[in-house]
Amino acid sequence: MAPPSRRLLLRNLPKIDALQRLPGVEALCTAHGRERVTETLRILVEELRQELAGEKAGQERMDIWMEQLAESVETRLQEDLHTLLQPAINATGVLVHTNLGRVPLAARAIERMREVAGVYSTLEYDLAKGCRGSRSVHAQRLLSRLFPGGVEAHVVNNNAAAVLLALNTLAEGKEVVVSRGELVEIGGSFRIPDVMRKGQAILREVGSTNRTRLSDYEEAIGPQTALLLKVHTSNYRIVGFTAQVPLPELVRLGKRRGLPVMLDQGSGNLLDLAPRGVKDESPAQSLLAQGADLVTFSGDKLLGGPQAGILAGRSDLIERIRKNPLSRALRVDKITYAALEGTLQAYVTGRAEEEVPVLRMLAETAESLKARARRCSDRVRELSAGRVVAEILPGSSLVGGGAAPLEELPTWLLAVGCRDKSANDLEEALRRRRPPVIARIQDDRLVMDLRTVPIDQEEELAQAAAALGEARATR
Ligand SMILES: *Cc1c(COP(=O)(O)O)cnc(C)c1O
Repeated sequence: MAPPSRRLLLRNLPKIDALQRLPGVEALCTAHGRERVTETLRILVEELRQELAGEKAGQERMDIWMEQLAESVETRLQEDLHTLLQPAINATGVLVHTNLGRVPLAARAIERMREVAGVYSTLEYDLAKGCRGSRSVHAQRLLSRLFPGGVEAHVVNNNAAAVLLALNTLAEGKEVVVSRGELVEIGGSFRIPDVMRKGQAILREVGSTNRTRLSDYEEAIGPQTALLLKVHTSNYRIVGFTAQVPLPELVRLGKRRGLPVMLDQGSGNLLDLAPRGVKDESPAQSLLAQGADLVTFSGDKLLGGPQAGILAGRSDLIERIRKNPLSRALRVDKITYAALEGTLQAYVTGRAEEEVPVLRMLAETAESLKARARRCSDRVRELSAGRVVAEILPGSSLVGGGAAPLEELPTWLLAVGCRDKSANDLEEALRRRRPPVIARIQDDRLVMDLRTVPIDQEEELAQAAAALGEARATR
């Protein structure tokens, strides 16, 4: 039983309607709505009641509570509006980082999104005829420009959807021949055998994990066969005693037996990136030039655009794919088309390596990265008055994201340390900032790779690193 003074205090808890009329609180109703304000007041009063019922708090606590009330209500209301999706600084050096939204978009893509987002648009309207048109015309023309002799293409939600749709259209109830060495799993949830099943196609595995010959494919072909499939093994590589059938050979077999050949390329690379150190990624154009009937790839890996899946190839196959009722369930919206078109414009005008962020990052030289890392380490020492130890060391960036993730690009890392704090503590402190800085731990040291940090985030990064030297970290 609480003492009498406490009982009195509890009986005199402020009433909600009186609190609502306080000028500071009243003002919040305009921005947040009366109901949300009232609800928040109830919660705060209940919290105060519980506090006062305990032994510690008294009248002074109630006075402070009243003084800070409007501010507390506003803080709570703002917290409600916080979104979990927020900008982050990617200092991991992984260029295509699926957990961090894969890739940043080009300015042109963002501009195109802005143009159509807040107004009506000609998404499915044929201006020439003044009637309903088709949304699939949008990226079509620009994509076509990028393939010698043009190409027919169809855009869906992502590459997983593209593969699903292609298998279902071309091989529903029929067999698809794939090498055992190419039954990949990407990102834990995309597995070719599972997608195959969901697409109602029957998987016909051939060869062994490390070796598949043309004769293996040949012997598997029967009256039930509808498609020959190759999958780019983008997130692992089988080394040693290996053999996979090169695409042109498979194409010849397909022609002989009247079967289409599909290639899941994955990365969406449209340029020859070998000079940039990415050797295992043939551009989609060259795969079609080698005779593939259909290629599928992501919009948000090395292509550098929005999340999307693109199917490109023989026009009769694309036509059948468009007519599949599943297409409706997998289609993309105006924002995606706008971003994809903006990105493709950069390619068509030959400016992709300057304008598309992932390609720009890929092209940055180790020399330039070394100079930036050095500048940052100087800045960290300066800002932290020497409390944070910063130095640079050579390392590698990764392409990542199921697109040539094994390809390592030479870079320079910024390594930071602070007295007795562990690398894990430092990593967590960076992650808890706003915006969060996502770094990497390597050999028990906290390291940051500037390859994935644009110049205009460099100062923010240096400040974050310098703040690690403050007593209570940076929470
Ligand atoms: C990334 C990838 C996929 C999945 O693509 P999403 O766009 O993530 O759906 C499928 N196949 C290959 C070969 C890939 O690299």
